[in-house]
Amino acid sequence: MKRIGITGGIGSGKSTGASYLIELGFPVLDTDDVARSLVAPGSEALSEIVTQFGESVLAGDGSLDRAALAGVVFSNPDARAWLEGLLHPRIQRVWTDHLDAHDLDGSPMAFVVIPLLLEKAYQSRFDAVIAVGCSSATQWHRLQGRGWAPEAIRSRLSAQWSTEAKMAAADHVVWNEGTLAVQRAQWDRILDHLLPGLVAGMAARSAGS
Ligand code: ATP
Repeated sequence: MKRIGITGGIGSGKSTGASYLIELGFPVLDTDDVARSLVAPGSEALSEIVTQFGESVLAGDGSLDRAALAGVVFSNPDARAWLEGLLHPRIQRVWTDHLDAHDLDGSPMAFVVIPLLLEKAYQSRFDAVIAVGCSSATQWHRLQGRGWAPEAIRSRLSAQWSTEAKMAAADHVVWNEGTLAVQRAQWDRILDHLLPGLVAGMAARSAGS
């Protein structure tokens, strides 16, 4: 089985790419979803976070206030390192299990979306790494469209490699600057390169279902 890592900056288009792969029928794990479930109300990780940073990182209903936590960790490298030390080993265990399980069930290819895949030097765990990128102007436009303040965008971007560095280090690049149809066409080409002929068959099956 081919193990494929997907990475890219915030708002670059990783999730829309992952949705397309799921639509085609591939197994895809998004580690942002894993991180969210690890800090669900009642979880051990959430109680450690509250012990470390105080109740101000909790929303009124007792769930994690992700914006409040981001405000703490993206302005404080030590706090960020602590949080990554808590979550990253747990997240890594989940995506390793995901890949191993699909290897056993005979899947031809399985994907994991890891925003900091290159920064954390996980490349050797994958047969290929695909970076999704877009221009800085488009990235800002998409993130501001989510209602993020300029300072929040800047602090998150400063915690990641530049789009250029990610593109240079990846095996394949999806340049997500055009329409979603253009993005999908790029995925098709990369998938066809990774496993020739497979995607056409999966697309035909998914269109027929
Ligand atoms: P994050 O790092 O925050 O998880 P992401 O890399 O997963 O973001 P997406 O969620 O896929 O990025 O895309 C960011 C936003 O831009 C979303 O609102 C998405 O719908 C939109 N978007 C992505 N690609 C395109 C496109 N080609 N055309 C128009 N809108 C797009």
